[in-house]
Amino acid sequence: MATNRTFTMLKPDAIENGHMGKILDMIIQAGFTIKAMKYTTLSTEQAKKFYEVHAERPFYGELVDYMTSGPIVAAILEKENAVADFRTLIGATDPAEAAEGTIRKYYAESKGRNAVHGSDSDENAEIEGKFHFAASEIF
Ligand code: UDP
Ligand code: MG
Repeated sequence: MATNRTFTMLKPDAIENGHMGKILDMIIQAGFTIKAMKYTTLSTEQAKKFYEVHAERPFYGELVDYMTSGPIVAAILEKENAVADFRTLIGATDPAEAAEGTIRKYYAESKGRNAVHGSDSDENAEIEGKFHFAASEIF
């Protein structure tokens, strides 16, 4: 059953490049409500765990280094059809392939440093949200 929630991170490149406010505004303007949010950093342990599914991929080490290189914004978002609509809003993993008007088209530097994370299923949205937030931090 669709939960109408997804999980996002504004990644270190987005924060470093000063795009935090503009990206949050795009998310809110697109109709998402913020149900939880924090400005934080990922430890190496946390980044490894979060991207565990990619552990065998050649970019895994670089991905973990990048995701721990500076602060991120983690958030749980709510909207009807949240997971799919948020993936549409962020665009393809590689900004060169991302549609016009998407967050990654505007703000991603590269396929690796691509500004934003979006959950790929309701199940993962729930797992990822709980990974970052205690029940008392979710509204
Ligand atoms: N990534 C990378 N190189 C690749 C594919 C992915 O560095 O060839 C990084 C990129 O930051 C991406 C993350 O790994 O966002 C997770 O990859 P996934 O395929 O799940 O892409 P996403 O779901 O973020 O679009
Ligand atoms: Mg993914």
